Amino acid sequence: MNFHVLTLFPEMIGTAFSTSITGRAMASGLITLNAVNIRDYAEEKRKGRIDDYSYGGGAGMIMQAEPVYCAWKAVTENLQRPRVLFMTPQGRTFDQGFAQELAMEENLVFLCGHYEGIDQRVLDEIVTDEVSIGDYVLTGGELPALVMMDAIARLVPGVLSNEDSAQTETFMGDGLLEYPQYSRPEEWHGQLVPPILLSGDHGKVDRWRREQSLLRTAMKRPDLCGGAVLDKKDRKYLREAGLEEYYKDAL
Ligand code: SAM
Repeated sequence: MNFHVLTLFPEMIGTAFSTSITGRAMASGLITLNAVNIRDYAEEKRKGRIDDYSYGGGAGMIMQAEPVYCAWKAVTENLQRPRVLFMTPQGRTFDQGFAQELAMEENLVFLCGHYEGIDQRVLDEIVTDEVSIGDYVLTGGELPALVMMDAIARLVPGVLSNEDSAQTETFMGDGLLEYPQYSRPEEWHGQLVPPILLSGDHGKVDRWRREQSLLRTAMKRPDLCGGAVLDKKDRKYLREAGLEEYYKDAL
């Protein structure tokens, strides 16, 4: 997976992405990062300035079309029209399903806005997807790009040491929240690890975890229950636990 980021702050992207799991994935060549400074494509006479006033007036500066276009052209010159993801609070909200879809691509280009935004004409010409990370406004697209890149990178085969851990996680597979997890010691602040996890009976542990997922999802995110795929044992559990109402659309 090759990430290309068009930004005014490449060092912000490079520093964050070189840390921990994504840093190791870069070191091992599973993912690459090409953070390109849009200022490098400013007109000669503007000496690195790429923003200007908004036609029609209004507060704030706008990133000009030409430097953004030239940066995109340089990055994509030898690529087969990769998807160009414009970070914007106006876009489709990013989620795990979208991360899985994007993880199938070989190259992804992230376009980070700043100031009041980017000249609409270049957006119309190069952007394939407008993506938001939530209904709030940030100062720039760098953090949204990093959030997306992190979520996508960990789905690239080999990036996580244990592939299974991604599969059982919240939002993955069956769309339920993940069950609670415990580690040593067996007793902490007077609280014991649920005895079933120490039983060594993998079937029972799996069943307990599944039921905890069903319970947690109903308690914390009832909006997700309707999309659950349930089997006979799940239905029995939901009946006995009085949770059928939450899952009525999935039953
Ligand atoms: N004037 C723009 C508007 O009202 O839609 C907001 C501009 S914002 C101050 C500057 C840049 O931050 C945007 O161009 C975008 O790249 C990024 N940004 C801000 N909030 C975002 C969000 N929730 N998701 C993705 N990108 C965001």
